[in-house]
Amino acid sequence: MASPTRDELAFLADQVRGPVFGRGQDGYAAELAGFQTGFHPRPAVVVGAADAEDVRAAVRFAAERGLAVAVRSTGHGVTVPVDGGVLISTKRLAEVTVHPEGRYARIGAGARWSAVVALAEPHGLVPPSGSAGHVGVVGYTLAGGMGLLAREVGYAADHVRAVDVVTADGDLRHVTAATDPDLFWALRGGRDNFGVVTSLEIGLRPVERIYGGGIYFGSEHAEAVLAFFRDWTARAPETITASVGMIGYPPLPVFPEPLRGRHVLHVRFATTDIAEGPGLIQPWRAVAPTLIDAVGELAYRDAGSIYREPDFAHAYDGNSALLSDLPPEVLDAIIGLAGADAAVGCVVDLRHLGGALAREPAAPSAVSFRAANYILRVLSSPEGVGLAEVRATHQRLFDAVRPWTLGRSLNFVYGERAAADFRSELYEKPTLDRLSALKAVHDPGNVFRANHNIEPARRR
Ligand SMILES: Cc1cc2nc3c(=O)[nH]c(=O)nc-3n(C[C@H](O)[C@H](O)[C@H](O)COP(=O)(O)OP(=O)(O)OC[C@H]3O[C@@H](n4cnc5c(N)ncnc54)[C@H](O)[C@@H]3O)c2cc1C
Repeated sequence: MASPTRDELAFLADQVRGPVFGRGQDGYAAELAGFQTGFHPRPAVVVGAADAEDVRAAVRFAAERGLAVAVRSTGHGVTVPVDGGVLISTKRLAEVTVHPEGRYARIGAGARWSAVVALAEPHGLVPPSGSAGHVGVVGYTLAGGMGLLAREVGYAADHVRAVDVVTADGDLRHVTAATDPDLFWALRGGRDNFGVVTSLEIGLRPVERIYGGGIYFGSEHAEAVLAFFRDWTARAPETITASVGMIGYPPLPVFPEPLRGRHVLHVRFATTDIAEGPGLIQPWRAVAPTLIDAVGELAYRDAGSIYREPDFAHAYDGNSALLSDLPPEVLDAIIGLAGADAAVGCVVDLRHLGGALAREPAAPSAVSFRAANYILRVLSSPEGVGLAEVRATHQRLFDAVRPWTLGRSLNFVYGERAAADFRSELYEKPTLDRLSALKAVHDPGNVFRANHNIEPARRR
């Protein structure tokens, strides 16, 4: 794939309002900087789109020259090596408008959840956002999006009402279940395979306050805590969404004393049922001695305190498994292969799924594996240990849980991987077949291939 010439770059820069950077030009690296610092995309050209017309011009420019198009907003979800082609950076498309009367928000492709929460909450409304407010709305939602209240609410993708997307022909389409049910189905789950989304409209729910937080236990109680998590989640109503994390804290003064230098389990909860929440969570306090018990009523804007994830850019690599069940073999594998004595430091997140996540929304989507009852995620920093060691450690865990693995979640594949690595693990077979058939209609030349690619079905 030939890189655009200097003249071609000048032509493109003339067509758009935002900045255009060729490889090696001033501003190129800064435009590409994002949350993930361990992997570095190297497109031939980066377009900092200032509006939807810029996205159209960039897609047309790439398509006419046979160049692949990649897209990114915050850089949280870097997954596929980008070497050459045109990368469209959406971070300037960050406009958010909340429509309280219709209970929805219109959200630009570069917006983060925190911006939506800040504008929606004063109206007593909340979006289907996840554990960290700094994650981008569009990338998260197009791959499904499991939020803090996921069992109560379903996937974020289930609440999308309309998508504005620039397709491979350079057209900007307003896609809804009524205007184009097939493309609307494919976009919600097929992520970046069908175009560059410039904005979307998503439903908001009336929520005044939530009840939630986290309880920490020492890792010496890992067996008891994970077994209780399995038994408790088997009975938990769908009004509560819970997860358990495992993490080792370095002995640094920035961490609270009970966690400093310890390997711990962090059980997190969120529910809108303020009345029932305390009673549902109470039994956890008898499982083992607690290191920190920080559960209570909170405003949704403070929900980032439930997971307490780092909000600074850093390097990480990781993967996920959508699980049918949590038999003892799975719990033993988590503790033995990703716990306190793992070969490399692992951050584990085991989330309870089911509830509304298991139900197809009124307008079905390509989000797969709704039958999964849990998702197991693991991530590690490759710094100091190396990517090979990290991947080998994670692989041992994912091999051990394979008999209970239904598939993987595109949102929780972190770090660059060969584009074809997981395709068949990200979608159920009928979904993948339908996506391929629709890809042949909407992107027959596979312009959008710098991703976990759905290849266009061959015409007979
Ligand atoms: C700290 C942290 C917490 C997280 N918490 C959750 C959580 O609670 N629930 C959950 O489901 N996920 C969660 N995630 C995963 C997150 O949803 C994915 O990493 C997602 O890809 C991030 O999207 P982004 O736009 O922020 O990142 P980016 O890296 O900018 O984008 C990721 C990918 O999304 C696609 N994409 C982005 N914008 C567009 C567009 N305009 N058009 C088409 N495709 C586009 C592209 O494929 C791009 O490569 C979390 C991730 C992190 C790092």
